[in-house]
Amino acid sequence: MMTTLGSASAPPGELDTGRLEVGETRDGSTVGLPVAVVNGADDGKTLYVQAVSDGDELNGLGVVTRLVPQLDPAEIAGQILIVGIVNYHAFQVAEHRNPVDDTKMNRAYPGDANGTSSERIAAATFEAAKRADLVVDLHQGRTSRMINETRVRCGPRHRLHRECLELAKVFGTGYVLDQKGPDGQLARAAPDNGIPTIDPELGGAVGWDEESIEIGLAGMFRVLRYYGFIDGEVDREMQTRASGFDQYGSPSGGLVSFEVELGERVARGDTLFRVTDAFGELKARVTADNDGIFWRSRRLPQVATGEYVCSVGTDVDQF
Ligand SMILES: [Zn+2]
Repeated sequence: MMTTLGSASAPPGELDTGRLEVGETRDGSTVGLPVAVVNGADDGKTLYVQAVSDGDELNGLGVVTRLVPQLDPAEIAGQILIVGIVNYHAFQVAEHRNPVDDTKMNRAYPGDANGTSSERIAAATFEAAKRADLVVDLHQGRTSRMINETRVRCGPRHRLHRECLELAKVFGTGYVLDQKGPDGQLARAAPDNGIPTIDPELGGAVGWDEESIEIGLAGMFRVLRYYGFIDGEVDREMQTRASGFDQYGSPSGGLVSFEVELGERVARGDTLFRVTDAFGELKARVTADNDGIFWRSRRLPQVATGEYVCSVGTDVDQF
């Protein structure tokens, strides 16, 4: 049996790359998402992987560029379907959202084949995801600074919650955010279709961050081993899980300086950051509302009143 995705088509024991066509650009050129298919020599599960759902999140693409050349279809059981760049239009202009319809792709799933630009891309990639037994949607914390973590977005009452958590533990970034996500996320739509799904958030970078890419690549190989695509044992390590997420904005305009490091434990009442004016005079000091882990922070120091500054993962445990 051939494995086909768009123009990529491989018989057992082979790998192929090609394009998945989703309409045309404004000048009439074909929009072709770069895709790869791996058809293992032996039977097994099907894994769907995608990257650059958000157009400025490139670490996942860094993982794909390193992963695919290391895959030997002769040594693989099962099939791997990969969309290397989902948000075609946003990627071209290095932005987060699809500029054609100003939409965030990860709010458009499961998509609509007759809908907006983002809905059509979501629908085309969701068709591929629905063929899989497992889905990995590679993201990062935009261009903010963020720890390497893996999100389980189906919510704790979902029938696939345990399976999604297991996949997150296997991927093994060390941190898991286990919190129901907003409507339109692939990590919600795919579990609703019976497919365990994770949304690894590979740090946050402008461009590529080598450490986060390596963590993502190691996670992909752990998934491939654990679920039987390739030979080898996987040691599942304890993950630190946050089930809540507090976001902090600035109470005043000025320059932010942080008092804690990413990944550091914070206690309620600890100072998270200070805001000063241009001459160093203190304008505000913001403390943690709850115990947790300092999870994510803005990259640029300048803030307006109410502008996003940082996040703390809360309700922390281990699993
Ligand atoms: Zn994202």
